Amino acid sequence: MIQITLPDGSVHAFEKGSTSMDIARSISEGLARNVLSAKVNGEVWDAERPIEQDSTVQLLTWRDPEGKSSFWHSSAHLMAEAIEALYPGVKFGIGPPIENGFYYDIDLGETQLSINDLPEIEKKMKELASQKNHYIRKEVSKADAVAYFQEKGDEYKLELIDGLEDGQITFYQQGNFVDLCKGPHIPDTGKIKAVKLLNVAGAYWRGDETRQMMTRIYGITFPKQKELTEYLELLEEAKKRDHRKLGAELELFTFSEKVGAGLPMWLPKGTALRNRLENFMRQEQKKRGYQEVITPHIGKKELYVTSGHYEKYGSDSFQPIHTPKEGEEFLLKPMNCPHHCEIYASRPHSYRELPLRIAEFGTVYRYEQSGELHGLSRVRGFTQDDAHIFCTVDQLKDEFLNVLELTQYVLKKMGFSEFTAQISLRDPETPEKYIGTKENWDKAEQAIIEATAEVDMETVTVLGEAAFYGPKLDFMIKDALGRSWQLGTIQVDYNLPDRFELEYVGTDNAPHRPVMIHRAPFGSMERFISILIEHTAGKLPLWLAPEQIAILTVGEGHVAHAENLLHELAAYDIRGYVDDRGETVGRKIRDTELKKIPIMLIVGDDEVADHSVAVRKQGEGDQGKMTVKEFVRYFRELLDQ
Ligand SMILES: [Zn+2]
Ligand SMILES: [Zn+2]
Repeated sequence: MIQITLPDGSVHAFEKGSTSMDIARSISEGLARNVLSAKVNGEVWDAERPIEQDSTVQLLTWRDPEGKSSFWHSSAHLMAEAIEALYPGVKFGIGPPIENGFYYDIDLGETQLSINDLPEIEKKMKELASQKNHYIRKEVSKADAVAYFQEKGDEYKLELIDGLEDGQITFYQQGNFVDLCKGPHIPDTGKIKAVKLLNVAGAYWRGDETRQMMTRIYGITFPKQKELTEYLELLEEAKKRDHRKLGAELELFTFSEKVGAGLPMWLPKGTALRNRLENFMRQEQKKRGYQEVITPHIGKKELYVTSGHYEKYGSDSFQPIHTPKEGEEFLLKPMNCPHHCEIYASRPHSYRELPLRIAEFGTVYRYEQSGELHGLSRVRGFTQDDAHIFCTVDQLKDEFLNVLELTQYVLKKMGFSEFTAQISLRDPETPEKYIGTKENWDKAEQAIIEATAEVDMETVTVLGEAAFYGPKLDFMIKDALGRSWQLGTIQVDYNLPDRFELEYVGTDNAPHRPVMIHRAPFGSMERFISILIEHTAGKLPLWLAPEQIAILTVGEGHVAHAENLLHELAAYDIRGYVDDRGETVGRKIRDTELKKIPIMLIVGDDEVADHSVAVRKQGEGDQGKMTVKEFVRYFRELLDQ
């Protein structure tokens, strides 16, 4: 017999070789039907894998992220089985679960697949799923694994096997399909009730541009049809809100092939939006003791050798710029920290100056593969809301509080109400991996934990995810569609102050090393604005909207009055434009709605006569007639909301 400990702490005796499924059945048949996989001693296993020794077991269902992952991962196998049945002789790369669904990379040889072929594959998947074939795990020797895929002629799997050690190779089989995989999977294909294949794209084998281009098929599956229907509705709404589509429609930003992929250009309205956002952050930072700096977009190679970035990212990530006469080598800056360290080092500091907070809306350049680029959210050049705080270890907690408070304030002002943070700490098992003293690490980790508790922020703590140079906190927000987005980071750093030999003179009159905090709570302006656009569906908060009002003239005779009105309102800091086209008012209203202008003012004979406006609000329609004074008051009330 073996002892099985469940999450509630209860201990149960089971026959040796019992499975998680047996454990589930002993609790209830209903639970057993819902079990997808199980965490056995912290590792996710097949629910039907025999347990040979005393273990802690947590049963995983659709509600658990790991349960979902095993479901989608198993669905990737099902898709591969269907594709192999329809297109014999194809070869497979990898097929992992992703945040929403799964994909499989396939070498289809001469066959070309398009989105039109997906329904047939879906149909085959459903047919195979209804056979309720079990996912059968088999440990195989390396020689047998090689022999199998040599026979099949799949060089991709052979390459994967090459990187594995004998004794750690497993095959999984469902129906006629065998795959190299370490698992885990769900018990059988019958659990997959709803299937939707979403997209076909190209992807390089192992992400390497010099290697074979494969066909990547994305899909998603659910245990219930209803869940798929809801998901597809959400997807439809997300498509409408896609920031790339809205960004073009609202004339916020553009890309040019000639300038280069992943290098956004901000149009006048987008620039107005971004400037307003930056200025708002700037003011809030100033209130919290930040000092703003500006640094160049390039730096000498030595700078990055000193910082260690050159060694870490290698010469590939940096694009060198040579000065032919002096023979110097410059690099485009991938981060602002080394420049800020040099600013700190430019003069001596006393403990009285700490914490010293240096902020910059710093534009950085990082190489991303062209296939990874996506609108404003994945780019090659972007501007961070960056700052570096130089302080003592004892000041860390207050500095964290300061940054957390700032971030919460700004996010709320932007209309986000749900945010959480992930705290990444040391792996207690491998203390040798980290630089800095244990005492300083303890203090830094404690500071983060206490600060997040004090501002009442929901957090998840992950051990072992800290960088070798310090613990960190990552922000996540949920948007209006319930999607989670990763924002920026607050990172403690014991490494760079060492590398740049930064010092301050302490109360003891002796030199000491400050600790450094990197913080870019919003990540980058580009990414943040892309999230904001999708969250608001382009209906930006009134205070941020590049154009707050549109004055719509009824007829030719009202244009001069409308122009005067625009001028008059500008004095109250209300911005917008006059639509004096020779169109009907109905048409003008529809067009203004499409442009997501928050407020429309309609001006006809009556309004000219008594100096009033007929007010319409985006999404809410007619707000009635107001005098100009009344409108200004109304507008200010909206702003305060
Ligand atoms: Zn698998
Ligand atoms: Zn930094």
